[in-house]
This record gives sequence, C-alpha cells and structure tokens, in this order.
Amino acid sequence: MPDQPHTHQILNPATEEVVATVPATGAAEVDTAVVRAAGAQRRWAAAAPADRARLLRRFAAVVDGHVEELARLEVKEAGHTLGNARWEAGNVRDLLDYAAGGVERLTGRQIPVAGGLDITLLEPLGVVGVIAPWNFPMPIAAWGTAPALAAGNAVLLKPAETTPLTALRLAELALEAGLPEHLFQVLPGAGDITGQALVEHPGVAKIVFTGSTRVGKEIMARGARLLKRVTLELGGKSPNIVFADADIERAAAEAPMAFLDNAGQDCCARTRVLVQRTAYDRFLELLTPAVRSVVVGDPSDEKTQMGPLISRVQLERVRGYVPDDRAAVRGSAPGGPGFWFPPTVLTGVAADDPAVTEEIFGPVAVVLPFDDEEDAIRLANDTAYGLSGSLWTRDIGRALRVSRAVAAGNLSVNSHSSVRYSTPFGGYKQSGVGRELGPDALTAFTETKNIFISTEA
Ligand code: NAD
Repeated sequence: MPDQPHTHQILNPATEEVVATVPATGAAEVDTAVVRAAGAQRRWAAAAPADRARLLRRFAAVVDGHVEELARLEVKEAGHTLGNARWEAGNVRDLLDYAAGGVERLTGRQIPVAGGLDITLLEPLGVVGVIAPWNFPMPIAAWGTAPALAAGNAVLLKPAETTPLTALRLAELALEAGLPEHLFQVLPGAGDITGQALVEHPGVAKIVFTGSTRVGKEIMARGARLLKRVTLELGGKSPNIVFADADIERAAAEAPMAFLDNAGQDCCARTRVLVQRTAYDRFLELLTPAVRSVVVGDPSDEKTQMGPLISRVQLERVRGYVPDDRAAVRGSAPGGPGFWFPPTVLTGVAADDPAVTEEIFGPVAVVLPFDDEEDAIRLANDTAYGLSGSLWTRDIGRALRVSRAVAAGNLSVNSHSSVRYSTPFGGYKQSGVGRELGPDALTAFTETKNIFISTEA
C-alpha cells in the first residue's frame, strides 16, 4: 500500500486558501473503528425499533438546527453556492426523517406453506462502509448513512480527501443528538488507503460507493474476493432531448442549469443536449444568452448561480476537453485565485469525440442535432452510461415511448429533476449497480432470512 500523508489540507476552491488540516485514518485505525462499530451495532440492533426511530428523528432535528452552519462549511470546503449548500444540509435532515419513518415499517413476511409457518426477517447487515465523493459531500454521505442506520447497521463513512469537514461535523451532531458512540464514525483519508481498507475488511459487510466508474469497478473487483455487497453510483453522460414540438423557450431557458448546477460536477448533469434538427437554430439562438446570463462568482453571495470547480486537478481535467478555440458559447468566470472555468457549450463535435463520450464533470455541454424519434433514442443510448436524462415534448405518447426506450435509471419529462429522497435513484449500464433512496432504501441494508416452523404434532 502507498504511504498515506498524516494530514490532508482542505482548500477553499474559490480562493485557494487553506480552510483546515484534517488527520488521515490509517489501516490500523480502520481496524479499530470496525471493531468498535461492530459492538455498537449489536446494541443498536437490539434496541426497540421505536427508540431507534426516535434517535434518528432527534439527529434530524439537530441537523435542522445547524443547517446554516453546515451550509457555510460546504461553501468553504466545496465551493458550492449558498443556496445549493442550504438545500444539501436540509436534504440530510429530510433523509434522516424519512429513514426514521422506515424503522418500524421494516416488516418481513409470512408466506403460506404446507406443514408449518414460514416467516421472513429483514436483518441488518452489520457494519456498512460508505465511501463518498466530493461533488455532493453531505447528501451522498446521508443517502447511504441514514437508511443503513435505520435498518439497524453501524456506519463508517469515508469522505473524499477534499471535502471531509461537513461529514466530521455530522458525526459530532449525531453524538449531540444521542446516537450511541461508535455507531456512526467518520474516517477521513485517502481512497487507496482508508477507502481500500474498508473495502478489504472482512468486518465490513457492504460498501456504498459514489464516485468515478473507474474506482467503482475496482471496488467491485476487490470486494468480490469477500463477496462483499456493493451499491455503486457512478458517472453519467446524460441526454437532454428536445423535440421540435416542445415549449422551446422553456427548454432553452432551463437547459443551462441542467449542466451548470454545481459547476457541472453532478453525475446527473444533462451534458449532451440533443435537439431536433427543425428546432436546432432557434434553440441555440435562445440557449446562447441563457448560458451567458448565468451568474458565476463568489459562492457565498446569495445571487451566485455557479461557483468554482473543486480543485486544480479537476480544473486541468476539464480544460483538457475544451481547446480554447472550440467553444460555440462561453459564459464568464472570475480571474485570479480559485479553480474557475466558464460555462461552455460546444457544437459541431464528432460523435466519438471525448467531449461527447466521456464524463467531463465540469460546466461543459455539447449540442447535437437529431432527425426523428428513432434517431433521438439511438443518440441518447449511444453511451456507456445510463444514469439520468430529460426529454421535452408536448406529445404524451412520445414522452412515454422515449422514456421507456432510453436505458437510464432516472428520467424526467419537461423538467430536469432526478433526485428526491422519496424516489429510487441509480444507474443502468456503467452508471452503477443497485438503487438508493425511495421506499426500498432500508431493504438494501438488510439480509433476508427465511424461517420455517413446523406445526406437526
Ligand atoms: P473517485 O472515484 O476517485 O473518488 C470518490 C471516492 O472514492 C473518494 O472518497 C475517494 O477517496 C474514494 N476512492 C478512491 N480510490 C479508492 C479506492 N481504490 N478504494 C476505495 N475508495 C477509493 O473520484 P475523483 O477522483 O474524486 O473524481 C474523478 C472523476 O470521477 C470525476 O471527474 C468524475 O468524472 C467522477 N465522479 C463522479 C461522481 C458521481 O457522483 N458519479 C462523483 C465524483 C467523481
């Protein structure tokens, strides 16, 4: 294993100032954390379901009382706009409340059989490892953590190297709310050390991972040696399909933030804008001023719509996809320190260009024309990914036909929404394995046990 630095410096991506220095968790400390978590989990699983639900609701209430503080921390460490960061902290609260409602409804079944009674139990897995990315540090940490705790598990959360601060604060708030010690621990550190130690630890029953497809595949392969359960939420290259019969004004007005929100560092970003040829010129005419009017700047300013990228590494990665002379539309971005990249739209790009095929994870979209419904579906599915997508049309039959034909886990019609805590989320193809959120979220953190009880005299 590579050497791990003892600490990670956390930079404010808007200013490049050091915000904090955070100690990294070594493999031996992961071991200790697993042992402690296992003990806490046994006691947690044995507690009355009503008490577990009450504690999770209390955790939600404490988070609610700290939404502003958590949001400001997220602005500082991740460069998220203040509005987004407030929503993200509120999402953690909502996830905890929603999961708490499931604790007492995690019922098994009674199945009719001959000669006895057959019941199924949904038992907790034990210790769950949640490996979170930097793009939505708080919500994604909570997507795994809240239902896992609700189903009776302990959670070890490894935040991304660049964004551990809100996770560490959430662990403090959990203790303040009265959650048992060691039940929810945050282990900051490098992916290939702390993360890998969780993946390879026999005491960790499941890994919930969100991040790149490359690392997701590696985790699945390493975890397979122990037949580890995994949920993987990976990359995307999602289409935004605009038919000529749509409300073109609205589709063009809403297209920019569908790929610029969070500076494009969103696995659901609609970065392939597919426009029916007969509406193509009109759409571009409307899209251009809409992209240019997006307010890019200081993320702590209430009016800002888009902040910086997370890091210099990410900035260089995004730059690599956009040679200077190539953009059809470019918005503005501040100069000076910070990891800034302007909103960018590319047109006339070949179908096999990396800007069309690869997840850029920056504020860059390509616009491609299509001829008819069949062509739109072909283009939409011409990708290794299948996370989300949008389609704009006034024809309800077409909306349903195309929604069924696009191989992706989350589609929206005449809208760009894809993530709600109460509805399932996850990817087709190389966008992932398994689903998170929604009514079945807790079940993903259980094993089903079947018991037959003979009634023979
Ligand atoms: P990444 O996949 O390397 O990191 C995500 C998380 O996994 C981090 O916590 C990291 O420390 C951890 N990790 C890394 N290697 C690991 C390993 N071998 N074992 C266990 N854990 C490990 O993502 P990144 O390098 O930060 O970003 C690279 C690209 O990934 C981005 O440009 C983007 O395309 C994509 N990405 C996608 C999402 C998403 O939500 N789908 C999120 C982040 C990044």
